[in-house]
Amino acid sequence: MQHKTVAFSKESSNLFFHILTQCNLSCSHCYINPEQHGKRRLPFDTIKDWLGLFAPKAPETNLVLLGGEPTLHPDLSLVVKEARRLGFRSITIDTNGYLFHDILDKITPDDLDFLSFSLDGATPDTNDKIRGKGSYDAVLSGIHSARSKGFSCSMIYTVSDKNIHELARMPDLTKDLGINRFFIQVIGMRGESSKFSTALQVSKEIWLGTIPKVAEKVADQGIVVTYPKVFLSHGEPFQCAGNVSDNYFVFPNGRVYQCPICEDFPLHSHEIINNRLMPMPPINETDLFKLIIPEGCVMNKMIQPGNLSYDAEGRPCHRIACCLLKQELTP
Ligand code: SF4
Ligand code: SF4
Repeated sequence: MQHKTVAFSKESSNLFFHILTQCNLSCSHCYINPEQHGKRRLPFDTIKDWLGLFAPKAPETNLVLLGGEPTLHPDLSLVVKEARRLGFRSITIDTNGYLFHDILDKITPDDLDFLSFSLDGATPDTNDKIRGKGSYDAVLSGIHSARSKGFSCSMIYTVSDKNIHELARMPDLTKDLGINRFFIQVIGMRGESSKFSTALQVSKEIWLGTIPKVAEKVADQGIVVTYPKVFLSHGEPFQCAGNVSDNYFVFPNGRVYQCPICEDFPLHSHEIINNRLMPMPPINETDLFKLIIPEGCVMNKMIQPGNLSYDAEGRPCHRIACCLLKQELTP
């Protein structure tokens, strides 16, 4: 099994394109913030134009189509085919499993690299408390339908103190379901999560004591696993992805962020105006990327400092990695 930290690079880029913000679910930790991200569903012609803005780097760019729930968009199949025509390196649809508008009948496995299903518990009880009644069954049934038609499926499990107790059951479940890739995410304090009065993130000890072990067990089943590093070990270098790699998070109101944990604020570095990608004036997220602090990630310290601790001299006990820094296990 190969363990590696996925280094940031300007050679490859990731484009997370929210083509709408509407969703049929109302997950308790939903990252969508309508005040900041709007309530638009982009028409197909606009999506086509905006994809074209990123097309010059398409062969190096992994495209993720998301929402809201992207399958609620009646033209999602046309979007996927247009992205394929433009030559994006990989195309993924992130879904909550409901697969609206018969999407699986309108595209083929050749059009799409991954269908990525969000599941936040190994049982209906835990998952549905977070994501809504019936959502567990929808994901399992969606995966069965997708696999029977030959699509590659991945799964995203967003870890919080509400579901970490069931993570150890995921190696068996992901194997039974025939998942090809498994992504563990850490819950971010944005959107609905930021409204909780208690921290949802698990402690450093619980995170480090649980995540790497489960990741290995999932990888033992022949599944590629990715999880965020979160806590840097002593001597590990800190880098802010905003300075050293190209990641774009595009929202239907035209805002383009480079850092997902800035999304609750009007700190976007670019905006699409009249189909042109325009840089925003200071102060925006790029001004924060330049700040060097002993705690590592500046945005983490500003909006989710609960994961920091300090020694008697006031020095941070550990640094927080960029939220985009991932550890990958390849069987
Ligand atoms: S499925 Fe995604 S977009 Fe929909 S409510 Fe849940 S987190 Fe939000
Ligand atoms: S999470 Fe922190 S380190 Fe990563 S891009 Fe955002 S500000 Fe930079």
